[in-house]
Amino acid sequence: MKEIYFDNSATTRPSSEVLAAYLRVAEEEYGNPSSRHRRGQGAAALLKEARATMLSSLGARDGRIVFTAGGTEANNLALFGRAYAKERFARGGRIITTEGEHASVDLPLDALARAGFDIVRIPTRGGVLAMDALLAALTPRTVLVSMMAVNNETGAVYPTHLVAAAMKRSCPDAVLHVDATQAFMKISMTPRTLGADMVTVSSHKIEGPKGVGALWVSDAVIKNHGLAAVTLGGGQEAGLRSGTENVPGVCAFAEAARLASLSFDERVAQMKAVRTHLLSALADHPVLKNAVTANLPERAAPHILSLTVHGFKSETVQNDLSGRGIYVSSGSACASHARNLSKALLAFGKSEAETDATVRLSFSHHNTTEEADAFLTALAEIVETRARMRE
Ligand code: PMP
Repeated sequence: MKEIYFDNSATTRPSSEVLAAYLRVAEEEYGNPSSRHRRGQGAAALLKEARATMLSSLGARDGRIVFTAGGTEANNLALFGRAYAKERFARGGRIITTEGEHASVDLPLDALARAGFDIVRIPTRGGVLAMDALLAALTPRTVLVSMMAVNNETGAVYPTHLVAAAMKRSCPDAVLHVDATQAFMKISMTPRTLGADMVTVSSHKIEGPKGVGALWVSDAVIKNHGLAAVTLGGGQEAGLRSGTENVPGVCAFAEAARLASLSFDERVAQMKAVRTHLLSALADHPVLKNAVTANLPERAAPHILSLTVHGFKSETVQNDLSGRGIYVSSGSACASHARNLSKALLAFGKSEAETDATVRLSFSHHNTTEEADAFLTALAEIVETRARMRE
């Protein structure tokens, strides 16, 4: 059975070049970058090189890459690190975010709310950021705005640069953190075009190894001591994230980013082609055109497609597809251990029943339009078989 992997926003299969880079560094440059001997210094040189590669892959002109153990940790560092950077923040500072953020932003903000911060969540109905609500929420007490560039469940692209411009007028001391986990190497972006002071990226979404990520932090935030460390210890990563560096993982992440930026246009074009093909075939499909709704944001990333299969639980659809070697996600994989409904889909405007019936397809440049056709054939069979079973 030929497998079809349409769950690339949950994670990607690491490329062989990336795995080769990992193995080479793990075997040959196993020293601790903090060690002063030659083995250590060899590892330190590779780490420095990986940092430079990440800066250029991000298109950053300045700032610092802080390597972390993934997007989740980078988000936690940005939020807790910012919140506790300055004593004055702790007394009721405001933090603004969107409805439907990833749990690694949402739950730290719940914790900060319990610690006395004033958290405001801006609606994102139809995948559109409610700018009026955001403008009204920006006050001089705002210390941080944290929002994703691309929503991991709907693929909605948010105009972070407009938020940054509004912040300059209303709260120039606040910083903008952008969770670009689903945007990096999928949409054209740099910290400058995002308008961001801090940017989260994650390796395993771009064919790198799991458990590696980075927070890009602007020079201005570093200079103003605008970010405190949350992991304390040996002082690695400019004191912002202690712990012996994951040198092979970091080098493999940098290699994945380098390769992705080299063929960015081709990769995006392929993902777009699959998504567009699937949407038009769906609209013409005799069985599916009435049974399935595509949840389309106004501005959509090229790699994510959210589909509501009316009257069917997403887990059922996911399992039936999985039995045929087709892998999609029901809700976001990271959240699917929890039985609660996707906040992002509810914020998009889906009802509870629709949310429960929604699957996410996410593409990589390895996917093809033939796979999209095979997916639709399988989905139609599942819908028809299950409908017949109900009769
Ligand atoms: N933010 C978003 C938008 C994500 O989609 C994910 C991964 N599901 C994360 C953060 C967490 O990244 P990681 O898996 O590297 O911890």
